[in-house]
Amino acid sequence: MAKPKVAICWLGGCGGCDEAVVDINEVLLSVAGAVDLILWPVALDFKYDSIKAMKDGEIALSVVNGNVRNSEQEEVAKLLREKSQIVLAFGACACFGGTPGLANLTTKEDIFNWVYRDAPTVVNPDKVYPQTKSRVNGKELTLPEFYDRVYALNDIINVDYYLPGCPPPPYSVMYALSAVLENKLPPKGSTLAPQRALCDSCKRNKSKPERLAIREIKRIHEVEATATRDGCGESCININVPCRGCFGPVEGVTDSGAKFVSALASILDAQSDADITRIADQITDLAGYLYRFSVPTSILKKKRG
Ligand code: SF4
Repeated sequence: MAKPKVAICWLGGCGGCDEAVVDINEVLLSVAGAVDLILWPVALDFKYDSIKAMKDGEIALSVVNGNVRNSEQEEVAKLLREKSQIVLAFGACACFGGTPGLANLTTKEDIFNWVYRDAPTVVNPDKVYPQTKSRVNGKELTLPEFYDRVYALNDIINVDYYLPGCPPPPYSVMYALSAVLENKLPPKGSTLAPQRALCDSCKRNKSKPERLAIREIKRIHEVEATATRDGCGESCININVPCRGCFGPVEGVTDSGAKFVSALASILDAQSDADITRIADQITDLAGYLYRFSVPTSILKKKRG
């Protein structure tokens, strides 16, 4: 019997999610034996033309990590959607835009001006900026178009399943792969992680005071904080690193930052408007606190005006 065809692909991400696939260690060998790996650009030299030549739906599963920031990434995402029965958004960048999505709080023009003109290390006296088309020695060269904002994968294509995390931990990668290979998948659109909040299962609940009341807000490196979906294995908390919320919001929450403001407001130890203002003024990086992984899927989506 023919093995199911599987593609693994990296769009706008850091490479950590590809690393997470390797982190399943020797299980990767049995996965590689059970499937026909037909695309994994970071590890093996496959060609997109061979994917284009496939029939629609011929790929059983495409595991797509990273967000979409340019036209090449959009083209690859759409190609994999067309050829795949199941598309899995893998990692916080694919699910919500991830940390690169914080770039939506500035404009494309500001990014280009900094990177190609204003950064102290830049030497660009002719102020040359990347062009989608240019001629060199009589030949036309092309580059992908850099979009005006970062998009989560489901802004561009229909996604069947979501596996959050930055990156997803090895056991959830194995769970997702075996659920697909053994055809034991939940309904389409599901997140392959627990429905409950991480705070519900956090071991530190045991030492939580009966009444939580916040008088001061500190930066993430100064203290412990946050609320997010369970499923990460608490790997950060276990080594005393604050949770940053890479598993995204729990079911039914459309804007994780707004929900987080609401949760914070409910436990502020403030007796007056002046108290509220004093505490709120201590947040020096609002986006980094509330939307570290999710600007592109927030209600705001990007900087306006
Ligand atoms: Fe990297 Fe995290 Fe994005 Fe994965 S989710 S590509 S590990 S930044």
